[in-house]
Amino acid sequence: MAVMEKSPVARPAYLDGKTKLMLIDGRWVPAASGKTFESRNPATGELLATVAEGDREDINRAVEAARKAFTGPWSKWTPAERQVLLLRLADLVEKNIEELALLDTLDMGAPISRTRNNRQRALGMLRYYAGQATAIHGETIENSLPGEIFSYTLKEPVGVVGAIIPWNGPLTATIWKIGPALATGCTVVLKPAEEAPLTPLRLGELCLEAGVPPGVVNIVPGYGETAGAALANHMDVDKVAFTGSHLTGQKIIHSSASNLKRVSLELGGKSPDIVFADADLGSAVPGASMAVFANSGQICSAGTRLFVEKKVYEEFTAKVAAFAKTLKVGNGIDPQTQVGPLVSSEQLDRVTTYLGIGRQEGATSLSGGQQLTDGDYGKGYFVPPTVFTNVRDDMRIAQEEIFGPVISAIPFTDIEEVIQRGNNTTFGLGSGVWTRDVSKAHKLAKSLRAGSVWINCYQAMDPAVPFGGYKMSGYGRESGKQHVEEYLNVKAVWIKTA
Ligand code: ADP
Repeated sequence: MAVMEKSPVARPAYLDGKTKLMLIDGRWVPAASGKTFESRNPATGELLATVAEGDREDINRAVEAARKAFTGPWSKWTPAERQVLLLRLADLVEKNIEELALLDTLDMGAPISRTRNNRQRALGMLRYYAGQATAIHGETIENSLPGEIFSYTLKEPVGVVGAIIPWNGPLTATIWKIGPALATGCTVVLKPAEEAPLTPLRLGELCLEAGVPPGVVNIVPGYGETAGAALANHMDVDKVAFTGSHLTGQKIIHSSASNLKRVSLELGGKSPDIVFADADLGSAVPGASMAVFANSGQICSAGTRLFVEKKVYEEFTAKVAAFAKTLKVGNGIDPQTQVGPLVSSEQLDRVTTYLGIGRQEGATSLSGGQQLTDGDYGKGYFVPPTVFTNVRDDMRIAQEEIFGPVISAIPFTDIEEVIQRGNNTTFGLGSGVWTRDVSKAHKLAKSLRAGSVWINCYQAMDPAVPFGGYKMSGYGRESGKQHVEEYLNVKAVWIKTA
């Protein structure tokens, strides 16, 4: 690793200058149109790879392959065989984790310390789904009909799954879709985000190496409006599992109406993170800071509305700003980097526009507030950790998802008020509470309308614990038993026994 750490231009073997093709029916093929697009490093602008650009025709081919696989020999695989397959894939991911982490860092910018840390999560997920493969079961249900008639349920794989993922954690996002599909016996057509297709494609190679049969996992890179929309619309796709913005989520629902396919959506957020004066402020400062600054704020459940009890508001926000200033912003390849670049120029525009809106609305930035352009920063899309104070609930920076390293800090005076104001958002993905008072903690846990409530911590995740949204943050759950159910149909069977 010494060479890699010294050199910002170190490349994983996967980046060999060849065009990255799409995985359809167990083979690597170019786009039917012959088109390609470029994947670049957001820290430097450097070209990483040219990638086949899938479109409707490629999606059609991939769905056809996925259908054929679904009804073919794959349907005869036993749960134990699917379990072994997932465990083999986990072992291969473990063996290649350094390369996968590096690909994530190069393609979407996250610090290498973070992408290396995803190891536990990635492996944990694959091994959890491996366990779930042999834990699928229906029920026998006593009915009240006269005569001898017996009823039970079968759980069956839902079929061909269209998986559409974002760019903010390509390795784990891919595993989050492929894992439950393999566990349940579904087949998948996965469309990576155009901003970061490389890790999903490399993972496709590992799937083949692990022995995933042709057509069971297909990966078609391309743009959302073309390849993504074709997948969401497709008449032979049984379910769409989508992670991304709520606006795209709404389009997916419209598209899914074509054949009334099942949909699960993990969308955006504007999550409240609530700090009471009685909290251990020493741990709340870094906790609430990294609840937003991790991954440069490009996490859907980031705790971006930081509610701080009035009597400690000045002190706490000053400490958060001081902490923000200690964070090392830079190229993700540097092991010292704590905050990498934003993923793209579009994302940079979006975040800097909101920084301007915040200032115009009357907020004050205690740290950050401007794009970094000096020296090497000028080659990439860097925004430093920003803490806005003097924020009111009705400001756009307190209502809209920025998806950047921007905290909107808002004072509050009592618990009833902060519950009401914390819930006053169209979203409901994450939420945080910092307090030493267990009754407050319980009350908040029950009252916050969000899929996750983190108390004296933030962003804890585990493959066994469900994650998902309330309100416009989407529906369906990922991780946990419920996730596996999302990939299963329930069939009722009746047998007249006399
Ligand atoms: P973000 O703004 O974070 O990039 P998006 O929701 O636009 O979030 O993108 C998430 C994923 O959805 C990406 O893979 C993208 O290509 C895909 N996508 C974007 N638009 C559409 C669409 N109209 N139909 C299907 N998928 C789409």
